[in-house]
Amino acid sequence: MKPARVKPITIAIDGYSSTGKSTMARALAKKLNYKYIDTGAMYRGVTLFALENEFFNEVNTLNEEALKASLPKVELRFSDQNELILNARNVEGRIRGMEVSQRVSKVAALAEVRTKLVAEQQAMGKEGGIVMDGRDIGTVVFPRAELKIFMTAHPTIRAKRRLAELQSRGEEVNFEEVLENLEQRDHLDTTRAESPLKQAEDVQVLDNSDLTEAEQLEIALDWAKQRGAKV
Ligand code: C5P
Repeated sequence: MKPARVKPITIAIDGYSSTGKSTMARALAKKLNYKYIDTGAMYRGVTLFALENEFFNEVNTLNEEALKASLPKVELRFSDQNELILNARNVEGRIRGMEVSQRVSKVAALAEVRTKLVAEQQAMGKEGGIVMDGRDIGTVVFPRAELKIFMTAHPTIRAKRRLAELQSRGEEVNFEEVLENLEQRDHLDTTRAESPLKQAEDVQVLDNSDLTEAEQLEIALDWAKQRGAKV
């Protein structure tokens, strides 16, 4: 008798900024041999597009109408190394800096941007076998995901991790600046009208303030197994 085919599951990872969602999602996808999608990179890509087209003025007000009208010209995809490609150009190195981080929540608050990106994300995950991380994955993109994880950690711990990441890439930033940006983004992300960051009802909360990457991966793998993933 043929063994029953194990259907790959969908794993949604949401949470606050710099809680290590991407690190965990990437490691989980590798272990399970699933696809990994960082949806934050997509919102960052649209933000870079807006910056390059001068849709932000000197005081950082976004020309929303101009961005909305240009959205059909924004083509996003991921390379085999999971790097973001914006209109055929690899922009991975440009989307992680403070210039984009300080503006991305404004772009992500626009309903038209969300509609476009959510549809693309749903298409990427329609076969299952995917780990996707962001802010609205378990609530909006894949409300029927077999496993939903909500990641959180103490703000100062998150800011320290993010500072180390930025400094390792040669950005000159200080702790206060990074902490302020995280808190601002968390505030905007949780209070916006369109798909605010919130915990889905059937979510597993993972506070990784005191966990190593290996420890949190072990916890997530156990949850994935319980939900039917073949490890
Ligand atoms: O995950 P990351 O910090 O790179 O996301 C950047 C920003 O993109 C977030 O602060 C949030 O404003 C937005 N975002 C979102 N919905 C997602 C993923 C990211 O609104 N699914």
